[in-house]
Amino acid sequence: MTRKPFICGNWKLNHGLVETQAVLRAMAAEASTYSSVELAIAPVTPLLAAAAQVLQGSALGLAAQNVHHQDKGAFTGEWACHHLSELNVGYAIVGHSERRQYFGETSAAVGQKVRACLDNNLVPIACIGESLQEREAGQIWDVLKNQMDPITAAVQPDEAHRLVVAYEPVWAIGTGKTASAAQAQEVHAQLRSWLAGAFGEDVAERVRLQYGGSVKPSNALELLSEKDVDGALVGGASLQADTFLGIAAAAFELA
Ligand code: PEP
Repeated sequence: MTRKPFICGNWKLNHGLVETQAVLRAMAAEASTYSSVELAIAPVTPLLAAAAQVLQGSALGLAAQNVHHQDKGAFTGEWACHHLSELNVGYAIVGHSERRQYFGETSAAVGQKVRACLDNNLVPIACIGESLQEREAGQIWDVLKNQMDPITAAVQPDEAHRLVVAYEPVWAIGTGKTASAAQAQEVHAQLRSWLAGAFGEDVAERVRLQYGGSVKPSNALELLSEKDVDGALVGGASLQADTFLGIAAAAFELA
């Protein structure tokens, strides 16, 4: 089974309007070179409309960093999946560890967001990952399973191939400490086996599993060479065109 590699950049709370337009223009100019790789960037939400204008007709997709699970209502400060679709945003990152840590996003809420994305034709990029303390205490599999269960419970087998799961060990995010390729593969193999339990092996083989945590051009090839590592969710190294495209080039080499 070949899974199309998928590299998504998460800009978090960074580039303003001028930088967003400039960096996206530079990325879009090169994106079609890596046609066997799916590429997307998640800018800050208020700039999605401006970003969509820059990316019109390009091979670089747009992602949101978060989304609310309801379509409408008294939820000040939120936005819904259909608002994203209206802007040609194709993906939504849900359950990022920073959302879980600083905004109280629970695993149950992540499941609801995954459901809303699938109902609205958005690809959910559902993030899971253990902290260093949890890893060292031997709790990694319990933690990851508890995060995965509400995600798989929200998805039907016939739509599960649209799901993307990003394994992002919290201790590797923004720290410069990358999980080794073997550590990433070990977790991804376990995730795929849980997916097989939930949806059957054929479907599990179609689900893309991204690794996230200090991915950069210098370590991308090694990580992406692993059998079950189908792409990357990239923070810091996605902020500039050359480093993001360097990761895309590594994925392209292997695709
Ligand atoms: C992230 O924020 O999802 C991430 C992986 O960040 P970084 O690449 O900077 O570690």
